[in-house]
Amino acid sequence: METSRYNALSAEERSVIESKGTERPFSGEYDDFYEEGVYLCRRCNAELYRSDAKFDAHCGWPAFEQEIPGTVTRLPDPDGVRTEIECANCGGHLGHVFIGERLTAADTRHCVNSISMKFARPTAGGQYYCDKGWEHFNVGQYEKAIGFYSIAIEHTKTGPWEGQCYHRRGWSYAKLNQHQQAIQDYDQAIGSDLEYDLAYSHRGQSYAAIGEHQQAIQDFDQAIGLDPEYDLAYSHRGQSYAAIGEHQRARASPMPR
Ligand SMILES: [Zn+2]
Repeated sequence: METSRYNALSAEERSVIESKGTERPFSGEYDDFYEEGVYLCRRCNAELYRSDAKFDAHCGWPAFEQEIPGTVTRLPDPDGVRTEIECANCGGHLGHVFIGERLTAADTRHCVNSISMKFARPTAGGQYYCDKGWEHFNVGQYEKAIGFYSIAIEHTKTGPWEGQCYHRRGWSYAKLNQHQQAIQDYDQAIGSDLEYDLAYSHRGQSYAAIGEHQQAIQDFDQAIGLDPEYDLAYSHRGQSYAAIGEHQRARASPMPR
């Protein structure tokens, strides 16, 4: 295992994260802690839990009713009874998960050692999650990207980057061929910024993908109107003209230079 990219751990941290120990109850940094943010793996910085999934189980350790999807692995504990949880990215020990206690509607309690995590505040009211979405988008993890963009959108109702977040979530949906969802998000992005040429162009591409080329052409027109040097928008508009049989117009929609 390549370990040099992981955070250096103290002996106390190693005893829990690597040797599957348990910190003393009511002793951990995040047991009685309810700020808004995200909990990362202390060893590898993977995002594990959101603060809105945290609840007070009065058990002495941080309790979460759900993980960020795909970030936590469950496996049988050597005791033959419990289910251990570990970071899906680095395998660091987190704690145990308990089902059926009826403490919350999710009926699930992730009982996590504080020392296995570190807390991060979202900066600029959600920009943190927006950036995380982009990281996942860039490596082709579109479902995860959508998850983070959704968190970012939840975390703020207004803001200069809100439209960007909708736009990028829409683009993630488009990558998964969910074009109706994508169009809804592009609508939101354009609503927040009427001069958003990239969002017009992408909405046009989603309309084209579902065969609505007239709508697509309107969007490409908008994108070109906002940016007369938008090569790709000219190209896509030409393709949509061709798709509806207007080959004259397709040919008359050249690049601007
Ligand atoms: Zn980890």
